[in-house]
Amino acid sequence: MNALQAVRKTPVVQGFDVERIRADFPILKLQVNSKPLVYLDNAASSQMPQQVIDRLVRYQTTQHANINRAVHSLSEIATNAYEQARRKLQHFIHAREEREVIFTSGTTDAINLVMHGYGRKFIGPGDEIILTTMEHHSNIVPWQMLAEEKGATIRVVPINDAGELVIEDYERLFNKRTKFVSVMHVSNALGTINPIKQMIAFAHARGVPVLVDGAQAVPHMPVDVQDLDCDFYAFSGHKLCGPTGIGILYGKAALLERMQPFKGGGDMILSVTFEKTTYNTIPHKFEAGTPPIAAAIGLATAVDYLSTIGMEAIEQHELSLLHHATTQLSRMPGVRIIGTAKSKAAVLSFTVDGVHPHDIGTLLNQDGIAVRTGHHCAQPVMQRYKLPATSRASFAFYNTLSEVDTLVAGIRSVQKVFA
Ligand code: PLP
Repeated sequence: MNALQAVRKTPVVQGFDVERIRADFPILKLQVNSKPLVYLDNAASSQMPQQVIDRLVRYQTTQHANINRAVHSLSEIATNAYEQARRKLQHFIHAREEREVIFTSGTTDAINLVMHGYGRKFIGPGDEIILTTMEHHSNIVPWQMLAEEKGATIRVVPINDAGELVIEDYERLFNKRTKFVSVMHVSNALGTINPIKQMIAFAHARGVPVLVDGAQAVPHMPVDVQDLDCDFYAFSGHKLCGPTGIGILYGKAALLERMQPFKGGGDMILSVTFEKTTYNTIPHKFEAGTPPIAAAIGLATAVDYLSTIGMEAIEQHELSLLHHATTQLSRMPGVRIIGTAKSKAAVLSFTVDGVHPHDIGTLLNQDGIAVRTGHHCAQPVMQRYKLPATSRASFAFYNTLSEVDTLVAGIRSVQKVFA
């Protein structure tokens, strides 16, 4: 082993045993195209540790029943596990009360809930909604639908060349018609961490509520919704080592209580007659029908798992990976990093001169390396940089420095093929 290899074998953060963590993830042992899988598509979806898989199996084999609706033992066990999952998520994001945590099917569903529940009730003709250029489509399209329905206007905060929001322009967009701000915490296409605490304080000083799309933040850093003072915060379970089909909307209780339900059906009511239906209290008012019980319980196990490692340690390890990858890629002629903000999470978008991102992804896949190529559901970002697409490597806490090196070697091989 040479000196460089020895350094690479060393955990990047003191006490962070990445090899032990990797042993928890069965999928990371896979070979893809006869090469060890190097999974760098974590911004799209992360992998699940054995602890979560085991919890799902235990639930399905010994605890499954529909919740809330029966006096039999299994239903009580399932109901308790589901409500305990809510409390675990509450503590994970430091929400004040458990009724402020609503189970949704994901970030998209959570944003749509706010659009329907808050937007359709409180936003009207001539009102303005502030979004940013870097939003994921799931934080653009619902607001466009609302604006079209209500005759409201979308105002957009621009980004600079580094992929940072132009905060002076954000502040300039406010006027007496501004009724809502919806902004992402971390960009899935650029990695930028936005100064949301400052942005929220500015909006609140003008009486404007703020939704934060936290899909790319919650898996990578400690998040405290009370400290941020956001009004709503949305994220997805499948990016957080949990199952698909589950997500969270955090909302301040006082706002959730004033909102109208998004979906009607069982469990979201206290009483129903053909003359009048009385809605349930929060959070149940927003959880119509049978919820994704197993997925909620699996997600709670995932956040237990992440908490045991510690979100601060996860953040530090991932930043080491980002730093290592950024240093290497910046030295490579013909490689351009898209998104060079001062404050970044572990997302690295790049282009390679003369090679279409789709070809980069295909060739890297032949080496067992999974990256994403395309517009990353952020077409306005691509338009801003006048690019059709980028390649994106996105890291998780179970990735290693040597996997970053494999990526770098893979990009070199791609360049040779197209030389
Ligand atoms: N917001 C951001 C920033 C994302 O990265 C994603 C998914 O990539 C979403 C929203 C949508 O998440 P989901 O598809 O889980 O609803």
